[in-house]
Amino acid sequence: MKTLEQLSQTAQTITNLRPAYREILDFYKEVFRVQEESLKDIQLPPIMIEPDLLKIKQKNELPLIDPSEFLIDLAAATRTFSDVCGLAQDLAPGLAANARFLQRSLSQAAFDLEALFSALLNSHEKSLQDISQLLDVPVNELSLFGHLSMAPSIGTCREQLEIYLAGMPELQKGYCPVCGNPPNLASLDQDGRQHLHCSFCRHEWKSGRMGCVFCKNNEKDMQHYFFNEEEKEYRVKVCDHCRRFIKVVDLRQMDREFFPNLELIATLHLDMQAREKGYANEGAGRNEVSHSSQ
Ligand SMILES: [Zn+2]
Ligand SMILES: [Zn+2]
Repeated sequence: MKTLEQLSQTAQTITNLRPAYREILDFYKEVFRVQEESLKDIQLPPIMIEPDLLKIKQKNELPLIDPSEFLIDLAAATRTFSDVCGLAQDLAPGLAANARFLQRSLSQAAFDLEALFSALLNSHEKSLQDISQLLDVPVNELSLFGHLSMAPSIGTCREQLEIYLAGMPELQKGYCPVCGNPPNLASLDQDGRQHLHCSFCRHEWKSGRMGCVFCKNNEKDMQHYFFNEEEKEYRVKVCDHCRRFIKVVDLRQMDREFFPNLELIATLHLDMQAREKGYANEGAGRNEVSHSSQ
């Protein structure tokens, strides 16, 4: 099993290669430690799917649940929220002021964290805007702190739900078989097979390498890559049909442990490059802050 020790070493390796990421990785390394510790406290009943419903979902290649159905251990997530705000004050200067305010508001019961979680799980933009206005904290920061603190609960539910996927054929759709969200990372394993990583629940699933992962378009003129010479392990696959991009980590070109969460952060410059070229990825940025807000 991969340990926090390995994660920390891998973060250090990446920092040595790309010193610009030192500050942001120092923050996230600690966030991942807090999330890992929180996992031990999580107490949630498994999400049950009735056999008949499961059959319908399998037949129609539908995801197992809607993101709104994820269960959150409120007590554990509240502690994680406060811990992450604490870390941001120490390690993420760009987020420190709002993190201090949010931590204080939470301790004074001056804002309803459950409402924030609900808005995020339901993708309820209006509620998010309202909370943002009320607290005078930007939506992207609320979303970041909210997602980071719900992640251990979501991960726990996901692990339980993955049991339902055993023996099912590979889903050849551009969304997560567990929760239906888009992937924000692809990886190529030692045999060159492509895996996708869900931007929301972190489920990993196999998918064919041909064509766009989102719209499945496979026309030669529509599918392109770009990459930087000095980063052989990364490339970005872009599709001119749906104008979306996905970052790809080639594990055959990498001699460090693969922690998808770390690589997602260490490649934020590629998101910026892809956006500058006019491509989008809805799942990107949910769990990461960009350089501009640091
Ligand atoms: Zn998912
Ligand atoms: Zn496409």
